Amino acid sequence: MQTLDNPNLTNTPAFDTTIHRRKTRPVQVGDITIGGGNPVVVQSMINEDTLDIDGSVAAIRRLHEIGCEIVRVTVPSMAHAKALAEIKQKLADTYQTVPLVADVHHNGMKIALEVAKHVDKVRINPGLYVFEKPKSDRTEYTETEFTEIGDKIRSTLEPLVISLRDQGKAMRIGVNHGSLSERMLFTYGDTPEGMVESALEFIKICASLDFYNIVLSLKASRVPVMLAAYRLMVQRMNELGMEYPLHLGVTEAGDGEYGRIKSTAGIGTLLAQGIGDTIRVSLTESPEKEIPVCYSILQALGLRKTMVEYVACPSCGRTLFNLEEVLHKVREATKHLTGLDIAVMGCIVNGPGEMADADYGYVGKQPGYISLYRGREEIKKVPEDRGVEELINLIKSDDRWVEPE
Ligand code: SF4
Repeated sequence: MQTLDNPNLTNTPAFDTTIHRRKTRPVQVGDITIGGGNPVVVQSMINEDTLDIDGSVAAIRRLHEIGCEIVRVTVPSMAHAKALAEIKQKLADTYQTVPLVADVHHNGMKIALEVAKHVDKVRINPGLYVFEKPKSDRTEYTETEFTEIGDKIRSTLEPLVISLRDQGKAMRIGVNHGSLSERMLFTYGDTPEGMVESALEFIKICASLDFYNIVLSLKASRVPVMLAAYRLMVQRMNELGMEYPLHLGVTEAGDGEYGRIKSTAGIGTLLAQGIGDTIRVSLTESPEKEIPVCYSILQALGLRKTMVEYVACPSCGRTLFNLEEVLHKVREATKHLTGLDIAVMGCIVNGPGEMADADYGYVGKQPGYISLYRGREEIKKVPEDRGVEELINLIKSDDRWVEPE
C-alpha cells in the first residue's frame, strides 16, 4: 500500500497494489497443483517426435531443469501414445518424475484412452476431438443435427472422462480460436462466444460424470480476441458458479521481441486482473527460450519471485557513470541472490527517492564516487572502482550473501 503526498488527497484511501487472484479449484497434475491459490504454474512443450524416446526424455529433462513445471508432448498416433509409457519410465529411472500432459487432436478417443494411462493430464481440443468434415454447401445447422453431434461428442468423451476421473488425473479443455468446430462457427460465429460455448459443452459433459479436474484455455493468435474469450469465460463461470482454473496463452505469437511482447500483452493483462493459474508462452524458438519469458512476466507482476529484481534508472544528463556498464557488473555479481531487490541509480538527486524500496542501492554520488544504500539509508561513500566489491561486502555484513554455485 502506498500513501500519496498531495495534501488534497490526504483523506483518499491508498490504492491497493495487490493483485487479487480469482478463486479457483485446485487441479492436481502429478506433483504440481494448478489453481487453488497456488503460484502460477509455468509450462511448455517439447517439439521432439514422441517416438524418439531418448530425444524426448532429454528434452523434457532440459525444460524441467530450467523451471518448466509441467511439460507437454504431442501424441498424433497410437504408437506415440504407447511411447509415453517408456518416456515416463525412463525419466523416473534416469532423472525424476515430471508432470506430463499429452496433446490429443483429431478423432483421438482411442489414443487419448491409451495415453491417459501414462500421463498426468490429457489436453483435448473441442473443435477437433470429434471432427466433422465441413460441408461446402451447408447453409444452416438444424437443431437435430446440432444435438446429434452433441450426442456423438458425449459418447466419445465419456470413456476418457471416466478414465481420468478414476485415476485422479486431469484434463485441459483447450479451445483454439483457429479451430472451432463448424457447428460452433455456424451457431455463434468466429467469436469469443463460440469459444466459450465450445468449452462449456465439454465442461457440462464432464460435470454430468462427476469429473471436475479440469483446466481451461481459450487461446487465439490475436491478443484482443484472446482477452475477450478469457474474460467472457470468467463471466460465464461466475454466472454458473464454476471455479475452473485457467491456462493462459497467445497462440502463434511468433518469435523475437514481438513474440515476447505479444505474449506478455495477452498473458500479463489477464494476470494483472487476477485471471490465470498456469501460463505458456508459445514462441517460434526452442522451448527453453519460453521459460525465462514466463518467469519475467510473473516476476514483473509480483506473482512469483525467481530472480533478483533490479531497479535501474534510464540515465540522463545527470548520470555520473556509465549506467549500462555498471548495471551489467552489479547484475553479474549478484544475480544469484534470488529474492533481493537491488537498485542502480545514476545520481543522488532523484535516485534515492526512486529506488522503489529496494533492499540495496548503488547510487552516483559525485564524479568518481558512488554511495551504497541499505533501503533508504545511505551507508557509505566509496570510489566508483570499488563499488561492486563494497556492495558485496555490505550484503555480506547483513548476512544476506550466498556464494554463487
Ligand atoms: S536517477 Fe538521476 S541520473 Fe537517473 S534518470 Fe533520474 S535524474 Fe537522471
